[in-house]
Amino acid sequence: MSEKSVTITDACIGCGECTKACPFGSITVVDGLAVVSDDCRVCGVCVDACPVDAIKIKEFEISTLSDFKGVLVYAEQHEGKIHPVVYELLGKGRELADQLGEELYTVLIGNNIGKQGDQLISRGADRVYIYEDSSLSSFRDDPYTQILAECVQECRPSILLIGATGLGRALGPRVAARLKTGLTADCTGLEIDPETNLLLQTRPAYGGNIMATIITPNSRPQMATVRYKVMNEAKIDEKRNGVIINRSIPKSLQDRVKVLGFEPIKEEINITDADIIVAGGKGLNDANGFKLLEELAKEIGAAVGASRPTVDEGWITYRHQVGLSGKTVRPKLYIACGISGVVQHLAGMKTSDIIISINKDKEAPICSVSTITAIGDLYEVIPRLIEKIKTHKKNQ
Ligand SMILES: Cc1cc2nc3c(=O)[nH]c(=O)nc-3n(C[C@H](O)[C@H](O)[C@H](O)COP(=O)(O)OP(=O)(O)OC[C@H]3O[C@@H](n4cnc5c(N)ncnc54)[C@H](O)[C@@H]3O)c2cc1C
Repeated sequence: MSEKSVTITDACIGCGECTKACPFGSITVVDGLAVVSDDCRVCGVCVDACPVDAIKIKEFEISTLSDFKGVLVYAEQHEGKIHPVVYELLGKGRELADQLGEELYTVLIGNNIGKQGDQLISRGADRVYIYEDSSLSSFRDDPYTQILAECVQECRPSILLIGATGLGRALGPRVAARLKTGLTADCTGLEIDPETNLLLQTRPAYGGNIMATIITPNSRPQMATVRYKVMNEAKIDEKRNGVIINRSIPKSLQDRVKVLGFEPIKEEINITDADIIVAGGKGLNDANGFKLLEELAKEIGAAVGASRPTVDEGWITYRHQVGLSGKTVRPKLYIACGISGVVQHLAGMKTSDIIISINKDKEAPICSVSTITAIGDLYEVIPRLIEKIKTHKKNQ
C-alpha cells in the first residue's frame, strides 16, 4: 500500500503563491519558506500554483506493523539538563526492549545538548538521536513535534515513551496525531504481553476507581506518556556502548510561536523531589491546620503535601496536591495527617518507602497501606511529636 504527501523542496522562494492557492488553508510561509500543515489533503493545487516548481507530491510505501522494531524514549531536557523522568523511562524501556529482544533508542532535541548523549547510553540506550540547533533552545510545540515525528519515521520504533510532564503532555498527543497512532496518557504500568508482544499500557480510569489496560493493536508506534516517580530509574553503567547519531534539523521547520523571554516560576517547594512529605487532609478542619504541619515539616526537613479537598477549599495551593489529579510522589517517608486514603489519593503516594498515618478512624483505608498508624486526634498527636523531636535534637 502507498500514500501521497506534499513536499516543499529547497527551490522554494517563499513567494506565497501556494498559500493563496491552497483551498484548505494548509500552507503558510514561515521565515521565507512554505510549510505544509497536517490539514493538507494532497489535492495538488499548490503544485500548479508554484512559479518555481518547488512543490512535489511524493508517493511512499506505508509501513506494516512488523516494520516497527525497538523502543524509543523521548529525552526531555531543559537548558541542556535531562529531566529525571527520562532515566525512569530508560529503566522501563530497557526492560521492554530486552523482553522483545530489540534495541532501545532515545532522542534528544534542543540546543547545547550533545554532551548528554553518553549519559543516555550509560543509562541503557543503544542508540541516541541528537537534533541540535540554536533555534531549538526553548521548547515549542511545532518544531519539536515535527522533529520527533521525523525521528520516529526514521527509526520506526514499535514503542514510543514520553514523560507525562507538562512538556510531554503537550508534545505526546501532537506527535500521536501526526503519526496517526494511539496514545495512552498518564500510564502507571507498562508490560509486554508474552503471547502477542503488544504493549500493555495500564492507567487509572473512571476517576481512579479501576485500572484500565489499553493496547494499540492496529497502529505504530504504541505511544504512552508515563508519570514521573512511578517507574524505577535506570542504573548507570559507564561501561555500556552505544551509538550517537547526529541529525540536522529539517529546513522547513514550522514554528507559529515566538518566544519573547522566560519568567521562571519560583517554586519554594517541590513535593515531587522531596525525601520526606508531611501531608494534610480534610481532617485538619481548616487552613490553620497547615501551620501545624509546616511546623512539623520544618523540624524534619520535609515538604508539605495535601489532599485534593484541602486544595479545593483554598487552604493550600494546587502545587501541594498529591494524587490522581495532583502530583505522584515517592518519598522515603510520607506522613499522612487526617487523610482517609481514598483510591485517588493513594494513586499519588502509595509507592512511598515508609507511610505513617495519623487518623482518628482505625478503619480509614490509609491505615491498610501504612507502615505505622497512630490512631488519635492529629491536634494531640502532632504537637507531642514536634515536642519529642525538639527534645531529641537538644539531647544530641
Ligand atoms: C477524578 C478524581 C480525581 C481525584 N484526585 C484526587 C487527588 O489528586 N488527590 C486527592 O487527595 N483526592 C483526589 N480526589 C478526591 C478523593 O476521592 C477524596 O475525596 C479525597 O482524597 C479525600 O480527601 P481527604 O482524605 O482529605 O478527606 P476525607 O476523605 O474527608 O478524610 C478525612 C480523614 O481525616 C480523618 N480525621 C478527621 N478529623 C481528624 C482529626 N482531628 N485527627 C485525625 N484524623 C482526623 C477522618 O477519619 C478521615 O479519615 C479525586 C476524586 C476524583 C473523582
